[in-house]
Amino acid sequence: MNESIKNATAQFETLLREQIERTKRMEELSKPVDYAALDKLVIGVCDGDGIGPIICREATRVLETLLADKIAAGKVEIRRIEGLTLENRMAQGKSIPDDVLAAIKECHVLLKGPTTTPKGGTGAKELESANVALRRELDLFANVRPVAVPEEGIDWTFYRENTEGEYVLGSRGVEIPGVLACDFKVTTDLGTERIARAAYEFARKNGKKNVAIVTKANIMKKTDGKFARICRELAEREYPELVLEDWYIDIMAANLVNPAIRSKFEVFVLPNLYGDIITDEAAQIQGGVGTAGSANVGGRYAMFEAVHGSAPRMIEEGIGEYANPASIIKADEMLLRHVGFAEAADKLAAAMQKCTADKSLNMTGDKNGSTCREYANKLLAYISED
Ligand code: NAD
Repeated sequence: MNESIKNATAQFETLLREQIERTKRMEELSKPVDYAALDKLVIGVCDGDGIGPIICREATRVLETLLADKIAAGKVEIRRIEGLTLENRMAQGKSIPDDVLAAIKECHVLLKGPTTTPKGGTGAKELESANVALRRELDLFANVRPVAVPEEGIDWTFYRENTEGEYVLGSRGVEIPGVLACDFKVTTDLGTERIARAAYEFARKNGKKNVAIVTKANIMKKTDGKFARICRELAEREYPELVLEDWYIDIMAANLVNPAIRSKFEVFVLPNLYGDIITDEAAQIQGGVGTAGSANVGGRYAMFEAVHGSAPRMIEEGIGEYANPASIIKADEMLLRHVGFAEAADKLAAAMQKCTADKSLNMTGDKNGSTCREYANKLLAYISED
């Protein structure tokens, strides 16, 4: 037992030192890119696993159509990156194989299909989630998820901290076999300030006032307590026009399904795990995870994806072609906006709205509904008649 405690303590010291080093690199990595000044914008595309290749195929076709002129003029390149598959990751024993990571780092932005993460505790090799690794490697600190239900007055934007909390050391907890296991949660001052700033800048630029800081600071006193305090201090110092509210995650989960109150919320800023859970709840309110896109934004890099996973059961049941691509096509729209192609993004958003209203499309995710290809064909037809 003493030996186990000694090893665990030594491991904890290593982790603390690594985390302090990480905060030192944060400032450098947080500087934004001026996309307008680039000779050529390179958009990488990684298919991922399960339904990933099916939905990415359509999302890429949409980008190629919308950016055809820029691609022809050599101003944009859409570059396929192979190898971010479960088979390759397992074979290489790495969440992101080195050559894949190097190829991704040569792009400016990335469109990524969902990637499967092998479950822990099954005896299989415990590979870290490719997403968690990518967010860390590319320092994609802000996970931005818009959710809108216009007929109910819902227009929410979630700013989920993306690189810390329970995730940064999620695969590196300590265990005293047969007795206990212990995971770690990390909240840094710089990490909290930059996610709060990103949320507040968005609020300011988009005329939003209400910002909900969502934590469990009554229980997680050190980490969430710091998060809530730094969010407040930054707003008091630099964003006095914003109306900040502190909420606990449990009651916020209830608020989102309470029609009497939910439409008053505008912007949410929250640590990683709560953001992960509550944005899926919010996506469900919008019409399911198949409808929601998400941006993972850092300074140098940005990655865009669907909020859902690889839906392995759809592949096992032979219904992968019925996957709804709206989620990843929404990610296309977010990517276009992020790099400054607002006109193409508006065109895409308008075509997506027409698809939502189009009764001939029925995205059930099953054989009784429309296919992924049918959705994309319809969408491209709406884009071309615009
Ligand atoms: P999931 O999101 O893959 O599936 C949840 C449910 O939603 C399933 O019923 C599925 O059939 C359905 N669904 C998902 N996408 C759909 C779409 N486009 N159209 C229609 N229906 C859709 O969640 P899960 O089963 O918990 O996870 C499967 C795998 O994906 C896991 O290995 C998980 O780790 C991984 N995952 C990856 C990401 C990512 O890469 N961003 C996100 C979440 C989960």
